[in-house]
Amino acid sequence: MAERLSGHTLLVSLIATPIRHSLSPKMHNEAYAKLGLDYAYLAFEVGQEELADAVQGIRALGIRGSNVSMPNKQAIIPLLDEIDPVVELTGAVNTVVNVDGTGHLKGYCTDGTGAVRALAAEGVEVKDQIITIAGAGGAGSAIEAQLAIDGAKEIRIFNIDDRCWQNAVDMAEKINAKTSAKATVHHLENTEEFYASIAESSIYIDATGVGMKPLQDQKLINDPAVIRDDLVVFDVVYSPAETELLKFAREHGAKKAINGIGMMLYQGAEAFKLHTGHDMPVDYIRDTFFSDAN
Ligand code: NAD
Repeated sequence: MAERLSGHTLLVSLIATPIRHSLSPKMHNEAYAKLGLDYAYLAFEVGQEELADAVQGIRALGIRGSNVSMPNKQAIIPLLDEIDPVVELTGAVNTVVNVDGTGHLKGYCTDGTGAVRALAAEGVEVKDQIITIAGAGGAGSAIEAQLAIDGAKEIRIFNIDDRCWQNAVDMAEKINAKTSAKATVHHLENTEEFYASIAESSIYIDATGVGMKPLQDQKLINDPAVIRDDLVVFDVVYSPAETELLKFAREHGAKKAINGIGMMLYQGAEAFKLHTGHDMPVDYIRDTFFSDAN
């Protein structure tokens, strides 16, 4: 690292809190080193109180761009100069580009594209598909918006009756108003309706985090009859690499049971491209950080 850094090194930041656990700095710095790019990527503990100053700091210091995570993904939008059209739908930014280092900050959301690219990498296309998705939090909303933009036919959003229920309602309204996809919202507590929807879908996405600590022993599908060999099961959780849902889906014959590692890699790769103009060496990064995961 030391011999890579110089007076010319361009900085990319990550602003969120808590953020010290994030894998992003390792992934991006490893990719810069692999490609010999004169960039460095650092995480900064930034919450909503510090956000305006941090954004001004990006401009003042000529930081080349930033990734943004919770709690700043929505709050950063009014502080930017421009947003990508996708952000109007997602209502969240996870990547900021300091355009040509001029201080003009443009916000993007690569979480949804990361998910769709991860599916495409497994040979799964979302266009014209009926898709059932559980969850309408940060990850779910970004994926739902991107599915609509990428031409899914129907997006059936299931959520429990919690703080994210209204997110689901709002997202469906936006999708129906702004895209050709049809979005509907349903109660996840209604298991019969949930299973019936999956039966009509080619892809089921779990964007709830059920299957990850502290819910690592749980899954939302508990009836083997729901799993078909041609049902694509995609779980956004990347740790553990095999959630209870993916294990259950594989055991009951699903040919494609996909974890969140690809989404994680590709959302990073999209941001990497926006920040540097170069393609992230995705396979190398996967081998470096996830070699023992499946
Ligand atoms: P969030 O808190 O914004 O949303 C959580 C969603 O799950 C909400 O819709 C909520 O209603 C639902 N939910 C919560 N508990 C539930 C339960 N017991 N049963 C059913 N539904 C429940 O969280 P988020 O930021 O959207 O993250 C969700 C998951 O996605 C996490 O596991 C996170 O690690 C993962 N994630 C993965 C990637 C990736 O790149 N693979 C990216 C972002 C998030």
